[in-house]
Amino acid sequence: MEDLEVEELKKYKFEIGPIRPPSEGGSHSLLIRVTCNCPWSKCKFCYGTPYGREKFRKRGLEEIIKDIQSIKNIEDVIKRLAARFGSMDWVSHIIDPLFLYGKFFDELDDTEYKNIQSIINVYNWMCSGEKTVFLQDANSLVMSSKDLVTILKYIKKHFPQVERITSYARSSTLSRKSLNDLIMLKNAGLDRLHVGLESGDDDVLKYVNKGATADDHIIGGKKAKKAKIELSEYIMPGLGGKKLSRQHAENTARVINEINPDYVRSRPYTPNPLTPLYEEMINGEFELLTPHEYLKELKILVKNLNFEGRLCFDHMMNFWMKKDGKPLFSRNYEGYKFPDEKGRVLSLIDEGLSIDESVHEHKLEYLA
Ligand code: SF4
Repeated sequence: MEDLEVEELKKYKFEIGPIRPPSEGGSHSLLIRVTCNCPWSKCKFCYGTPYGREKFRKRGLEEIIKDIQSIKNIEDVIKRLAARFGSMDWVSHIIDPLFLYGKFFDELDDTEYKNIQSIINVYNWMCSGEKTVFLQDANSLVMSSKDLVTILKYIKKHFPQVERITSYARSSTLSRKSLNDLIMLKNAGLDRLHVGLESGDDDVLKYVNKGATADDHIIGGKKAKKAKIELSEYIMPGLGGKKLSRQHAENTARVINEINPDYVRSRPYTPNPLTPLYEEMINGEFELLTPHEYLKELKILVKNLNFEGRLCFDHMMNFWMKKDGKPLFSRNYEGYKFPDEKGRVLSLIDEGLSIDESVHEHKLEYLA
């Protein structure tokens, strides 16, 4: 089919990084890549593997602005196609490698793949109301605040319907940003930061080479809150192994209480064979918790929690199950409100502890 608008759609593409938080996937956020990969890539449990251990690089402002223009162009063409054919549903038939290129996904060359990936991201974002944007990759705050403000304002100008712009940030960078810069970023449209806290215990942080201390977490987190930027902190139950389990739980609760973030998101430690911590586990230096030990650690953490945000288990890494085979905790992105639902979370932990450990299948297929 020869169609001018379809041919025009094939002209545009923009950079998309490999990951974004699940909550941003749930809202089909538009993905705008402002830097590439992780500037640290040294945490022993991760090692930058989500980014293929590719070298970190900043992207030029012009390059990013050009991407946003491509997004605008894709959006315009999709709107015209939807108006012509009467529905967005119909447009979904066009966004098909067979229709556009006469090829299956795995036969596309790099340019064709990026084109389809870009169209899919814009299409899904449009279908969900164009409300949220996520700035990739691992630590957008390493950009100059001035450039980041330019990007945020550019997004707001071209997509005034956007209600929330979020990004990942490292505590070591966040704690070094001035409060004025954070307020400036908030005023330009940065609504939420996702921060990998992992642990509030300095021994654990040092052991896993996080490149941030408990104080960095507290200073950075409190500053973001003071700038009225919403804060999602990711914690990693089990990261201290058997040896540091108790102090990991107690100090993580202490740091969360000091920061008082809007969200705390649980991501239990799951060994990744491409990382140094996995090697240490195999040679016996690091002892992985059993499913019940994870829950006992979580119980210490939750008992000590005294904050006013939401505790979320919004990822399948929270592997514990109920007797009926359903997840022990809700995987809802809004999780459990504290302090109101603290008792409920503690009861669920007790329920998990009352079930035979074999039911909580912590999938470690590579250990077999
Ligand atoms: S900072 Fe984040 S992305 Fe980078 S290595 Fe550590 S956990 Fe991985």
